[in-house]
Amino acid sequence: MQAIYDCIVVGGGAAGGSAAYHLACRGRQVLVLEKLALPRSKPCTGGVSPAIAQWFDFDFQPAIADTTRTVRYSWQLRDAIEAELSIPEPIWIVDRTVFDQYLLQQAQQQGAVVTDQTEVTGITFQEDRWQIHTATTTYGGRYLIAADGANSQMAQWLGFKPKVVRTAAVMTVPNPTGDRAAHFEFGLVKNGYLWSFPKGDQRTVGVAVVRGSDRPNWEPILQQYCAAHGLQLADYAIQYHPLRVWEGQQPLHTHHALLAGEAAGLVDPFSAEGIRPALYSGMRAAEAIDAALAGEAEALATYSKTLQEEWGADLVWAQRLAALFHRMPKVGYHLAMKRPSATQRLGQVLCGELRYRDIAGRAIQRLSSSLIPGR
Ligand SMILES: Cc1cc2nc3c(=O)[nH]c(=O)nc-3n(C[C@H](O)[C@H](O)[C@H](O)COP(=O)(O)OP(=O)(O)OC[C@H]3O[C@@H](n4cnc5c(N)ncnc54)[C@H](O)[C@@H]3O)c2cc1C
Repeated sequence: MQAIYDCIVVGGGAAGGSAAYHLACRGRQVLVLEKLALPRSKPCTGGVSPAIAQWFDFDFQPAIADTTRTVRYSWQLRDAIEAELSIPEPIWIVDRTVFDQYLLQQAQQQGAVVTDQTEVTGITFQEDRWQIHTATTTYGGRYLIAADGANSQMAQWLGFKPKVVRTAAVMTVPNPTGDRAAHFEFGLVKNGYLWSFPKGDQRTVGVAVVRGSDRPNWEPILQQYCAAHGLQLADYAIQYHPLRVWEGQQPLHTHHALLAGEAAGLVDPFSAEGIRPALYSGMRAAEAIDAALAGEAEALATYSKTLQEEWGADLVWAQRLAALFHRMPKVGYHLAMKRPSATQRLGQVLCGELRYRDIAGRAIQRLSSSLIPGR
């Protein structure tokens, strides 16, 4: 039997790295178990709100690949509107291999132990601690954070209900046009959308379904998008990855264990943003486990409550907006997006400057009234 850790974090992505960093900063003994060899890649377009900087006391600059303040929306490759966002900091675009590794390194510098190529294969709770099983070793931890992403097995082992998992895809291609905008394209993907970000001399293009159970063949859609934007699809691999969007409020704690990041189903049901909630939930999970270790009986329940109030409550609005928008996307695009003030505000939501609740009521009112005949 190995040393007993205060907390074992399963998964070395954004949620796991954030949790490990904040636990280690609080002087807790923390072990991260990551199944892949590090640094590992994560299929992701890497758009991140600079608002995340407030949760960490180190500089993210070395992990930022590009930035932009320009957003452009279009409907079926036409009818575009572009805006310069009035935001203090531009949107960051990161390479997840670099970004997640940087975060883990920061955690290690604070004392976290990170073990890669170590897949967790099962868990049991015995006496007062978790036994975390891998092919070769059993690790002991007083508390557990499941941060194992969209296909979380940990969530199932911990007794949480299985969630719907959808798919998304990403590819990175040369950007000969030098287009610097963050681009969101609607109308090509039913119940979802396509987007792309500048990343140095490349563009990273993503596509996702956020509602329903469609599993489209992305390749023709990506080909059409690339052809329309002077991007070359040939020879560039499309990477597919599951996506687990938020489906409603649920408890995120159980006995001596918490869910964080995509394992907790925290991906925005409108925009598919998952990095910021992963970092946020990782930080809050660390705070909760630190408090539990200090003897606070309700600390883990408080984590669920905090996530519901501070994150879930806003995702309720995102979900309503997504439901209405995808019911009539063309009307939604023209009424709720292709208006200069709306373009600006939605851009501010997407980069974390505004919350959905600040804009959704008005947008939903507009969209709903367009459904009433004669209006
Ligand atoms: C195509 C695509 C594009 C996206 N683009 C964006 C974007 O631009 N902006 C944004 O904010 N979000 C985006 N997202 C969402 C975002 O990538 C995820 O929500 C985010 O990575 C979640 O972080 P996480 O730490 O919870 O999970 P992950 O980053 O998936 O990390 C989980 C880790 O757990 C490890 N693991 C899994 N099982 C085990 C096990 N049994 N034992 C040990 N380790 C295990 C995995 O190897 C992985 O490293 C995108 C998603 C997709 C699919």
